[in-house]
Amino acid sequence: MEVTHLLAPNPGPYTGPGTNTWILDSDGDVVIVDPGEIIDSHAERIVAEVGGRTVTGVLVTHTHVDHAPLANPLAGDLDVPAIGYAPGPMFEPDLRVGEGDTIAFGSETLTVLHTPGHADDHLCFVVGTEMFTGDHIMGGSTVMIQDLSAYMTQLERMRDIVLTRLFPGHGPTIENPHEVIDHYIDHRREREEQILGAIRAGRGTVGDIVQLVYSDVGTELHPLAAFSVGAHVRKLVDDGKVEFSETEDLWDGIVHLITT
Ligand SMILES: [Zn+2]
Repeated sequence: MEVTHLLAPNPGPYTGPGTNTWILDSDGDVVIVDPGEIIDSHAERIVAEVGGRTVTGVLVTHTHVDHAPLANPLAGDLDVPAIGYAPGPMFEPDLRVGEGDTIAFGSETLTVLHTPGHADDHLCFVVGTEMFTGDHIMGGSTVMIQDLSAYMTQLERMRDIVLTRLFPGHGPTIENPHEVIDHYIDHRREREEQILGAIRAGRGTVGDIVQLVYSDVGTELHPLAAFSVGAHVRKLVDDGKVEFSETEDLWDGIVHLITT
């Protein structure tokens, strides 16, 4: 398989240098992963790069707006299916795929993994020992997480897959997948310990926890940190370690340690 990278021109705080669009080629058959936002110049670059090759489908890793909206119009232009887990904002799959489904192209088979965590509808795609990770694992930045319990489960199971290279939705290609996966797991566990420590020390709200655990980052990043603490606290609820009374403003949510 040959992999070509096209960087979408949408850099920003959530997208880093921009969204990575990947073009996978096996014997002249092509699959496109994550065309990104609707940006005409990017769509034109993708079509030009594909050239006269046969396209099997346009895949999206998840339906966040920096990954999926161009999929339907591009798939329409190329007369191939847009493929994803479920409909989402600005995305309507022609073909829905989930855990264990396969897509053949050229002499390769792409296997779909359903990997909720960053988003409920998140997929990763494995071809041989290479994986297209979307925002489940990013090159050189941390991931915003919606459901941390699910996210950790998915990271843990990736330890058991033989992987030699990761192609993320943002940032550079990852050549040491297992080191990075272990680092992601360790980082989250450390954070969880710090947050539990803060709760044990009597920090009663999400805001209190942020101010203690994220004292080293600027206050302008605290709303983002609160989002992360919220994800951790919800996992601690799943684990039976704390009670969480959420409030309209996440910052004021009240956390109680469960003592047995
Ligand atoms: Zn993204």
